[in-house]
Amino acid sequence: MNTPTVSHTSAGSIEATDIQFLPGVGPARKKILSTELGINTYGDMLMNFPYKYVDRSRVYTVRELTGEMPFVQICGRILSFETFDMGPRKERVVAHFSDGTGVMDLTWFNGGQYAKKTYRIGTQYVVFGRPTVFNGRVNVVHPDIDPADTMELSSMGMQPYYSTTEVMKKKGITSRVMERLTKTLVEKLREQLPETLPEFMTARLHLMGRDEALRTIHYPKDARQLERARVRLKFEELFYVQLNIVRYAADHRRKYRGYVFTHVGDKFNTFFHRHLPFTLTEAQKRVIREIRRDTASGRQMNRLLQGDVGSGKTLVALMSMLIALDNGYQACIMAPTEILAEQHLATIRDFLGTMDIRVELLTGIVKGKRRKEVLEALSDGRIDILVGTHAVIEDTVRFARLGMVVVDEQHRFGVAQRARLWSKSDNPPHVLVMTATPIPRTLAMTLYGDLDVSVIDELPPGRKPIVTSHVFDNRMASLYDGIRRQIRQGRQVYIVFPLIEESEKMDLKNLEDGYETLREVFPEFSMSKVHGRMKPKEKEVEMQKFVSGETQILVATTVIEVGVNVPNASVMVILDAQRFGLSQLHQLRGRVGRGADQSFCILVTTYKLSEDTRKRIDIMCDTNDGFRIAEADLKLRGPGDLEGTQQSGMAFDLKIADIARDGQIVQMARDEAQAVIDDDPMCEKTAYAMLWNRLREMKKTNINWAAIS
Ligand code: ADP
Ligand code: MG
Repeated sequence: MNTPTVSHTSAGSIEATDIQFLPGVGPARKKILSTELGINTYGDMLMNFPYKYVDRSRVYTVRELTGEMPFVQICGRILSFETFDMGPRKERVVAHFSDGTGVMDLTWFNGGQYAKKTYRIGTQYVVFGRPTVFNGRVNVVHPDIDPADTMELSSMGMQPYYSTTEVMKKKGITSRVMERLTKTLVEKLREQLPETLPEFMTARLHLMGRDEALRTIHYPKDARQLERARVRLKFEELFYVQLNIVRYAADHRRKYRGYVFTHVGDKFNTFFHRHLPFTLTEAQKRVIREIRRDTASGRQMNRLLQGDVGSGKTLVALMSMLIALDNGYQACIMAPTEILAEQHLATIRDFLGTMDIRVELLTGIVKGKRRKEVLEALSDGRIDILVGTHAVIEDTVRFARLGMVVVDEQHRFGVAQRARLWSKSDNPPHVLVMTATPIPRTLAMTLYGDLDVSVIDELPPGRKPIVTSHVFDNRMASLYDGIRRQIRQGRQVYIVFPLIEESEKMDLKNLEDGYETLREVFPEFSMSKVHGRMKPKEKEVEMQKFVSGETQILVATTVIEVGVNVPNASVMVILDAQRFGLSQLHQLRGRVGRGADQSFCILVTTYKLSEDTRKRIDIMCDTNDGFRIAEADLKLRGPGDLEGTQQSGMAFDLKIADIARDGQIVQMARDEAQAVIDDDPMCEKTAYAMLWNRLREMKKTNINWAAIS
């Protein structure tokens, strides 16, 4: 991890000792350790955990290797190098490696030249990696290689590996050096390191003590001890995150009273009985009940509504706002973009029909006289529902009696912004945040732990699940055939090309070429083409042709990801699907399946796929369930990458726990934190003094943590 973090240790303890005083460090190395890894103290060094371990207790022979083994080490010599050309500026370097029992390959897809320069033919090396077997030949891709004479093989047990950066490597601070320094430190620590969890907790949960865990994590005797140490450290990390969130939520609840919406009246009922064009799904009904309960409770509602694309969140939002109106309050709904705000305005006006409810728009483009009018009507209470972008929470916007705020697309609207909303008045409105990007439970619990969560897990009836299939790009002819059949039946088709910024030029050319090819393949049909580089006007003209049915095929980049609604389009073809992330694929697929016809999504990929890509494609073919997809996405990519986690103000930086994989520990940490708060809501019992002190200390040194409280 590259981000410099702050020390987690209290002044005065041995852990607060300046790292410079560790034998082997000194001022020069201290500076590097500090800037590269944020290591300033002994404590920081202890918290710099290995990213993997090698079982050095056993050396395998080439002959006994199979494709089903974990990481192993083999000791032998390189016989020769071979280089294979793999297209422009790409090559594969293979070293033939033998220990006398057989020959295997070591392969580099990049960095091959470096390997050739660094490793000598005939020198004895210890190679570490995961063997695979192809055509009877054992292969290790991108192995770790160490000269054999530097290793005390059998005595090493589990060897820790530490992350290093380019700068560190240049200065000779390798993983091995980090290992030695850490070993020196651990041996130097004569006294027990202080415990940071109360004894009743460690005892009940059978957690390893902190001292033992920190020593074990750097020098595990065996895999079982290592696992126990990791669980302990992960729990501790997650527990304090949860304690912070839960305490914050409890505080918030105590401080702010909510408006009490005592009754459901005319507006809600008239809408429900006379204007609702369909029956609500069970999931919609349940969520509306949850919202009614919240808003009648006297507590301020903070609810996160998760529901897949097309699950009918807008309607839930509208009906919640009607409850506010029925109780004499105004409501507003915020969308992340102007286009979406305008769509909401149109949808809501359409739903309400002739009902006597004034709905107005306020976005950045509502200016001058019009803006003044809206602002006046709003502060007079003449506007019932305001639809807009973030413009609606600016200071100049004054409501007469704002009772309910709906935020669409939660992930662009983090904890900090919500906090600002609350601080706008003594009695803050009820808040409903909606997200179409499903967030796995464990992540939601951590990111939005202060929100109650509702889920719409059911689509409106009559939608046929989209059938998704995978096609290799050497099978285009039959794909074209299928497309032709669909269009002849009156359907329309999306064909999506990837376009990423790094290779934009090439991608655009790809799209242009592809477009020409498609014109030759389908001379009988007409096509539209849109991409992000076109002028908005042109784009709109092309889109409009497709919307009106004048063109049958829309060739596009991912610009169509949000906001396009053409129910007659029933086929989504995604080319080079291996280049898209899971959530993007899911969003794209969500463009079809909006009408009554059976819809199809076809993922076209190259023949060779990496393991991860294959998993992504398989999941897409397997399920339409956005939650399962989000869950898988989290597992494949890790939470740091997950769309939205950046903006949402992930208020911590996890060193060892992994929200995707450690769901059970997240839950355990949450339960324990909740139990503590329930028992000591004012944070004053001496039994928990240690927890409150530590939390306070952590918040002092972690800017992000401080920001949400
Ligand atoms: P999202 O959750 O993605 O915001 P929308 O609220 O836009 O979904 O709803 C998608 C479509 O489904 C809209 O056209 C909406 O009118 C329709 N819809 C919503 N609820 C129902 C329902 N209970 N039965 C039938 N159609 C519904
Ligand atoms: Mg929506």
